[in-house]
Amino acid sequence: MKNKKLTYAIYAIIITLLFGLLFWLGHFAKFQEFISKTEQNTFDLRQNLIVKNKKPNKDIIILAADDATYEYIMDKYGSWPITRQVWSDVVNSIEKVNPKYIIFDLLFIKSNLYDKKADNNFVNTVKNNKNIFLSMNFDNYSDDIRQSKILDDKLKLKVKKGNLEDNPYITFVNCRTIMDELIDATKNIGIINITRDSDGIIRNTTPVFKYKGNYYPNLSFAVAMDILDQDAISFEDNKIIIDEKHKIPLDGTKRAILNWYGKSKTFKHIPLWEAIKASKENNIKYFEENFKNKIVYIGTTTTSLSDIKSVPTESNLAGVELHATFLNNILDNDFIKKAPAKIDVIISILLSFFVGYIVLKTASVPKTIIFLITTLILYALISTLVMAKWNIWISVVLPYITIISTFVLIYCEKYLMKSKDYEQTYKLAVTDGLTQLFNHRYFQEQMINQVNNFERYGNIFSLILIDIDFFKKFNDTYGHQSGDCVLKQVANILKKNSRTSDVVCRYGGEEMVIILTNTNKNEAIITAEKICNTVRNNKFTLVNNEKVNVTISVGVATVGQSGKKPQEIIEYADKCLYKAKESGRNQVVSEI
Ligand code: GH3
Ligand code: MG
Ligand code: MG
Repeated sequence: MKNKKLTYAIYAIIITLLFGLLFWLGHFAKFQEFISKTEQNTFDLRQNLIVKNKKPNKDIIILAADDATYEYIMDKYGSWPITRQVWSDVVNSIEKVNPKYIIFDLLFIKSNLYDKKADNNFVNTVKNNKNIFLSMNFDNYSDDIRQSKILDDKLKLKVKKGNLEDNPYITFVNCRTIMDELIDATKNIGIINITRDSDGIIRNTTPVFKYKGNYYPNLSFAVAMDILDQDAISFEDNKIIIDEKHKIPLDGTKRAILNWYGKSKTFKHIPLWEAIKASKENNIKYFEENFKNKIVYIGTTTTSLSDIKSVPTESNLAGVELHATFLNNILDNDFIKKAPAKIDVIISILLSFFVGYIVLKTASVPKTIIFLITTLILYALISTLVMAKWNIWISVVLPYITIISTFVLIYCEKYLMKSKDYEQTYKLAVTDGLTQLFNHRYFQEQMINQVNNFERYGNIFSLILIDIDFFKKFNDTYGHQSGDCVLKQVANILKKNSRTSDVVCRYGGEEMVIILTNTNKNEAIITAEKICNTVRNNKFTLVNNEKVNVTISVGVATVGQSGKKPQEIIEYADKCLYKAKESGRNQVVSEI
């Protein structure tokens, strides 16, 4: 029972130390980076599993400036990019069938000096259609390189409550404005900056940017505000509140963790060249079939234009799809929320204790290993389910580290305790209970060992056999209990007067024996005399605290001189002892 309590105490200490160690390691940037990178990989894995059951919003479509469109434009117009006149024509054709929105994930930066008319037409198209959204970029160029602009008030995002602390993911010092005429023509301009994680993969997006102390919406965020008919937001509890039903949870960098709907082309792609062709042919039916009531994102999807991103589910995702995903996330309230660190630590602690307990309880090694593997797999599944069902990202790496460390540590502890148990059992088997000296069996074993050593290597040894004088009488006079007391005290004297290499045993009854290793006859006699004297001069305490004198008789034998077999040597010592008794007791005899 005591042993069990000790085991559990050690087990609790091990887990506490393990968490202390992890907490300490957590102060090192390299360790943190390792954990967060591995955790991100588990996130990607979970996202890939989850997307299989997700359906993107069917109203969101992508009008894609793809490779075929590039070929078409080069063939028909002889130059790339697409002229502003073509954009006007296509947009005007789409507008005829009442799309919900036309959102450009393209930058109309400079006016075209050679085709002012086309620019004006495009500006007018934007001015006339309130459902068109345009894009702009922020960057961090210094004013020495490019003068930073004060942006028009109408582009600012109104904030009712709260604020976001500046950080490099959301705060920028410069902006790349688009044509002044376009800024004059519309207030529907959103920011399309994208930020990657350190491994180059995009998992987050910035819903709201900060520039010169004001807030500006992400392109899709601006569209969502319009769809939800809101003109101001609030920041509350690390969330952006658009309305009662639409709240975007933010991570530590004040960005939103995106939830993916699949690989590339999960949203319907329509090649832009088809729309250009249909527009030229005035094919209203085509536009009705494809764009009526749709939210139309327009962007490039060609690898050559390098607007290609890596996301958890796909290494080649067009930037425009990323914006579409963000809008879909906002409308469906479908963002991933990272569980607080506290929760991850609590889960890890609980799992560690659970695994440690099972390891302690299970005797079979294969069963324990199967249990460990099952726990790891189950946890991976549960964490994926939690993400799929509640959009919560609970940590996998920390629990895995703690589960596996606990398993190894508790296993080692269990093994150590077992070998300790074995040691204890062995010790009990060779120890005499009353005197705590070695017992007769151990004595016999050691005699055989010593004789072997003597035969092989010539290691000499001696034997001292001790018998208490008139002990029967002692027992009769003072009682058996006092006799036991004296036996213990004599045993202590023997131990104190011998070296650690000597083997002190209870031979039987009130007889004791010492094997003196590497000791010749003369040295053995000196030790025997010393012991005999010490006993003679000692006052032995009885159970009633009375002090009495006791004497012993001692026989000495040495290997070689007194015999070569264990039995011969013991007999020699016994005969010496008998002689000592004969000669009046209380003395040492070494010759027969
Ligand atoms: P002597 O050796 O001097 O000839 O006389 P003795 O009375 O000691 O004789 P012997 O050695 O033959 O007697 C051994 C006695 O020791 C018998 C028994 O009463 C006592 N004895 C043996 N083992 C124990 C023990 O474990 N506890 C106690 N109290 N007495 C023991
Ligand atoms: Mg005896
Ligand atoms: Mg005796």
